[in-house]
Amino acid sequence: MGLIALADCNNFYVSCERVFRPKLETTPLIVLSNQDGCVVSRSNEAKELGIKMGEPYFLIREFCERHKVVVFSSNFSLYRNFSKRVMDILSMHALEMEIYSIDEAFLEYPEDLDGKDLLKESFLLCEKVKRWTGIPISLGIAETKTLAKIAAGFAKKVGVFDLSGKELQNDILKQIPIGEVWGIGRRIAKTLMSMGIRTAFQFKEMDPSRVRAKLGVVGERIVWELRGLRCSELEESQPKKSIRVSRSFGEIIQKKEVLEEVLSTFISKGAERLRSEKNLATEITVFIQEGFEITCLSEKIAVPTSDTTYLLQIGKHILAKIFEQGKRYKKCGVVFSQLVQENEEIKDLFSPKNPKRKLLMETIDELNSRFGKNSLFFGAVGMRKKWKELLHTEMGFDHLPLVKTV
Ligand SMILES: [Mg+2]
Repeated sequence: MGLIALADCNNFYVSCERVFRPKLETTPLIVLSNQDGCVVSRSNEAKELGIKMGEPYFLIREFCERHKVVVFSSNFSLYRNFSKRVMDILSMHALEMEIYSIDEAFLEYPEDLDGKDLLKESFLLCEKVKRWTGIPISLGIAETKTLAKIAAGFAKKVGVFDLSGKELQNDILKQIPIGEVWGIGRRIAKTLMSMGIRTAFQFKEMDPSRVRAKLGVVGERIVWELRGLRCSELEESQPKKSIRVSRSFGEIIQKKEVLEEVLSTFISKGAERLRSEKNLATEITVFIQEGFEITCLSEKIAVPTSDTTYLLQIGKHILAKIFEQGKRYKKCGVVFSQLVQENEEIKDLFSPKNPKRKLLMETIDELNSRFGKNSLFFGAVGMRKKWKELLHTEMGFDHLPLVKTV
C-alpha cells in the first residue's frame, strides 16, 4: 500500500491576495467573510498578533488599525480560480486524487517511488506549485487519511512532514489532543475524555470492539486509521468540470485590439469543445499575464451556454475590465467552468437549443472540420470589427458577421 499525502494551501485566501501584491509578503493580513463579517484567513503575522479564526471584524477593527493589519474582503471567484490551478498541478503528480476542500487535496503516492526520495520529491512538488501559481502549500504524508491530516498540521511549519513509520507516529500521537483528531467532534471528544482518553495515542490503543460499542463503526474506523490501516479510500475524482484554452505569445503584446483577437480565437476554440462534449458553461474566466503577474476575472453567465457569439461578447467585456494600457502581455487565456450538460439547461433566447442558433453553431463546426480549422470564423476573431456592430447583428441569424478567410 502506498502512502497518502494531504496537500494543504497555506493561509489560502491570504496567499491568493498576496500573489498580486508581493509587497505585502511580510505584512499582517486578513481576509474577511461575505459582507466583511468575520475573519476567514490570516497570514502568519496576523496569527502572531493573536487574531483568531472566525473573529467578528467589528470587534477587532481598531486593533487592526493600530497594528496596521491589511484587511481584504473575500473574492471567492479569484480563490476558486487559484484552487483549480493548484489542483491541476497536484493531479499531475498523483495516482489518484481527492479534492477535499477549496485548498486541500489527498494524493495517492505511488507505492514504488522508482528509487526517488520521498521527501525530496515532495519538496519539489511544493516548489513547483509555488512557482507556477504563487500559492505556498505544505504536504503531510502518512499511511492513512486520518494520519495524513495530523501530519499536515506539522507540515505547516516545515513544508513537508513524513509521519509514516510506527515509532514517530507513537511519539506524535501522544502530543495530539483527542479533540483534534479528524472525525472526532466535540461531543465524542467529551465522551472519550470522561473515559480518561485524552490523546490520539490513548484512543489508538483502545480495544476496537469497545470503541465500536461506545461510538459505533465510525469511531472504530478512526482507531484503525490511527493504527495505519486504511478504512477510507480516496473518493473518485470528479469528471472534468472546466475547459481551458490559453497560450503564451511568441512576442509581447501591448495593443488591446491584438489581445482581443487572440482571446477571441481561444474563446472560439473553447466553445467548439464545449459543443463537441455537449456541455454548457456557467462561468467564464479571462486571464492575462505580464511577467509573473496574472490578472484574471470571472463572470457568471446568467443562462448556461456554448454559443460562441455570446461567449465572445462576455469575454471581451471582461478583457476590457482587466486590460491595462502600457503593460507588456505575454500570455492570455480563457476558462469555461461550472459546466453543465446540454440537456440540463433551461430554455432561453440565447439557448443553443434555439433551433436556428443550434443549426448555426453546428454548421460552423461542420464546415471547419470539413475545410480545415477556421475556414469560417466569427468577426471578432482576426477582424478589427467594432464590437457594437457585432452586437447589433447578434440576434439576426442571417446577418451574423461570418467572415471567410482568404
Ligand atoms: Mg489551508
